[in-house]
Amino acid sequence: FIMALNWFKKKKNKAEEKTRPDQKTGEVSQSFEFDDVQAETPENKTDIKHEEFESETPIPPDSIDEEVDRGASEKPTGFFKRLKNGLSKTRKLLTTDINDLFAGKRKIDDELLDELEEILITSDIGVQTATDLIRGISLKSSEISGPDQLKKVLREKILELLNAAMKPPQAIVNKPHVIMVIGVNGTGKTTTIGKLAARFSASGKKVIIAAADTFRAAAIEQLGIWADRAGVEIIKHREMSDPAAVAYDSIEAAVARDADIVLVDTAGRLHTKKNLMEELKKIKRTISNKLAGAPHEVLLILDATTGQNALSQASLFNDALDVTGIALTKLDGTAKGGIVVSICKTLEIPLTYIGVGEKIEDLQEFDPIQFVAALF
Ligand code: GDP
Ligand code: MG
Repeated sequence: FIMALNWFKKKKNKAEEKTRPDQKTGEVSQSFEFDDVQAETPENKTDIKHEEFESETPIPPDSIDEEVDRGASEKPTGFFKRLKNGLSKTRKLLTTDINDLFAGKRKIDDELLDELEEILITSDIGVQTATDLIRGISLKSSEISGPDQLKKVLREKILELLNAAMKPPQAIVNKPHVIMVIGVNGTGKTTTIGKLAARFSASGKKVIIAAADTFRAAAIEQLGIWADRAGVEIIKHREMSDPAAVAYDSIEAAVARDADIVLVDTAGRLHTKKNLMEELKKIKRTISNKLAGAPHEVLLILDATTGQNALSQASLFNDALDVTGIALTKLDGTAKGGIVVSICKTLEIPLTYIGVGEKIEDLQEFDPIQFVAALF
């Protein structure tokens, strides 16, 4: 028992050494840039395929295995296949390396657990979570004699963590239902709004988009392209006009036209972070003054490729604006998809959507079972 205890202590110390400074001190990382120049026009010009959304009825999955089977039989354009493709980099990191762990051995030993911990940390799952998972696995080690069993145990343990953090999605009861979308420049706000507009519109909702990122003309144009693709109306003013006024007008238009959903795009950079937060707060206040109870959702967009930095962005925005949900984009662009687990475990804010590509149909509601099934 004492040997085991020492082993865990050693693990823990080692793991803590690997912690990045911003995680350790809780300091907000300064590494995101407000002056980054961002590509404005999305490359992808795919037309919206409304049928695809309609056929996308969520299945109530009873088990991960069922989900894996479903994925295997699905056509390449299907919902689960898109998720699986999107997560391929992370899956490659996790599964290939886990298979390699067992090369030449049949049992779990300290060395194997060390290496597994390293893999999990590389996937950005979080140091504490990796340590907890390893502890769980070491307790079950006598039952695990190969990579498939190990993956099965990991699947179950990670699912447990994700399920514990899940909250039921917010029902849409107000008309209009206002969603204010915020986040650092380049994380995918405008793209996600386009994808959401298409989803809502395909499900029969009348959508209005507010171009309250007035910082550059190109940003307004980019949103206009997405509004066209989704077939929804956009409310816009001139470049550099007051974003709160755009938000105000969009609510007025939504009420007058009996719209169901208002999606408010916002800027992700200003001259300073303080300016940005103050401006976002002003937009939020203006929306509430115009329509009591609104905005009903404050959706924070985080970019999965920024790794642990996404977590510091979340606390920064949450402190200023009380975020109600997170959309995590660009999971397709990273092998560090373990950040999903970090987000669910560390933040009190539910992970509502994940983005697995640039196409309009590449936004999915986050579903832990499907996620874990696609990962392993
Ligand atoms: P904004 O500055 O927050 O409005 O970000 P944009 O919506 O302009 O997105 C920045 C870039 O990220 C664009 O090139 C998008 O196509 C890309 N992007 C957004 N979401 C995803 C995603 O889920 N996957 C990938 N691969 N790219 C994405
Ligand atoms: Mg934008």
